[in-house]
Amino acid sequence: MNDQASPLQKQLQAQIQERRIFDQARAYADAYMAEVRTRGVFPGADALAALDAFDEPMPAAPARGEQILELLHAHGSPATVAQTGGRYFGFVNGGAVPAALAARWLADIWDQNPALAVMSPVVSRLEALCERWIVDLLELPAGTAAGFVGGTSTATLCGLAAGRNHQLRRLGWNVQADGLFGAPELRVILGEQAHASVFKALGLLGLGQDRVERVPVDDQGRMIASAMPALDQSCLVIAQAGNVNSGAFDPFTAICDQARKARAWVHIDGAFGLWAAASRATRPLTSGMAAADSWSVDGHKTLNAPYDCGVILCRDRQALVDAMQASAAYLIGGQGRDGMHYTPEMSRRARAVDLWATLKSLGRSGIEALIDGLCAHARHFAHLLQAQGFRILNEVVFNQVLAACATAELTQATLELIQASGECWCGSTHWNGEPVIRISVCSWATSAEDIQRAVAAFVAAREKAVSVISERTLNAPVKP
Ligand SMILES: *Cc1c(COP(=O)(O)O)cnc(C)c1O
Repeated sequence: MNDQASPLQKQLQAQIQERRIFDQARAYADAYMAEVRTRGVFPGADALAALDAFDEPMPAAPARGEQILELLHAHGSPATVAQTGGRYFGFVNGGAVPAALAARWLADIWDQNPALAVMSPVVSRLEALCERWIVDLLELPAGTAAGFVGGTSTATLCGLAAGRNHQLRRLGWNVQADGLFGAPELRVILGEQAHASVFKALGLLGLGQDRVERVPVDDQGRMIASAMPALDQSCLVIAQAGNVNSGAFDPFTAICDQARKARAWVHIDGAFGLWAAASRATRPLTSGMAAADSWSVDGHKTLNAPYDCGVILCRDRQALVDAMQASAAYLIGGQGRDGMHYTPEMSRRARAVDLWATLKSLGRSGIEALIDGLCAHARHFAHLLQAQGFRILNEVVFNQVLAACATAELTQATLELIQASGECWCGSTHWNGEPVIRISVCSWATSAEDIQRAVAAFVAAREKAVSVISERTLNAPVKP
């Protein structure tokens, strides 16, 4: 650094030269990884209370890097959710493949912006490669385009934007130029149990969350194809690969057949379930899905790529690019892939680096083994719970399990105790009118032993819940 450097520049440059903060981060990361499998899965009350350490007014002056990292590790690390440890079964949150985490560290040092090839030739190349590999793995139509976004919510927004614009263009309306006011009406058809993120996208796109046509579903949450309304070319049909509660898959062949004949656009929300197509054992669940027009899928769920990572896949490349681009179409097929033409953002994180590393680290056989392992653990979990007298309320076709106790009250009390136990963590949902414990096996790190420990935690929690409830009943004021 030359003498002209400002005091701030000298201070920041010194942090790079000394490398101390990077070594410090590395040491903390090592310590974290060493204990993530043995610590409590959810932070305890003390760790949560200690988060007050972060509360201060916006600092007036620069802080030392060492101090920042110290604070983060001392008070941040203990208040994390041990999602990478193997006994986290909440939401559908995936684990993280180690080589992808390491690749991401390196990419963080690069600090690339993949908006344009000219901003980052390497990320542009890796995006193109990830697109090819994923289309191949999932057996989607050749030439399908991919955009790399933060998650399935954004991916679905992109798919529905492409579909909306495409359908309106066919009806003689340029929605990009003229907006929705005065446009021909589109119809949106979806299953009774479409994911909340789909409604968010419909709201953002001006398609309306309430003016949808809901198709009845069966007892697993699958759309009943024969109950679909008559379709026409004003329709957007939204199906799902992996019901967020039961894990069930819609009947894509029947849905897509009707849609094709009517020239309707089909989008499939496959946040975690689309990966079923990458294993021979589960591929039949996705049968017919390649006939859709667009698909949204997460890297950070089933595939175990680090956060955040979502992918929009669109059969008609031009339809996606027309919806997302900020300038002219002639940029396609130029001197490299310009990522911004496939996503709502211009500047973005270089997600393709860790996605590429995840795919390369696992390979085709590793991805299949990962998926098969998650499914086998989910079935085993359900089997052990059933043997302990829990009710299993879904057909365990993929990685999701819905469990309940004898009564709703007992289910709820048991779940609260499971969540507080630190042994494992599960979320809840309502299924056929009753509260249920929702289990998602979504990490490569989960072992058979983790499942046994989790089931033991379920049993212990239910025992305790039984006594809590009977005490509550005994102590309840007697009605006159
Ligand atoms: C998780 C999920 C989403 C939302 O995905 P994000 O990556 O959280 O945006 C959408 N649909 C389904 C079925 C999901 O499981």
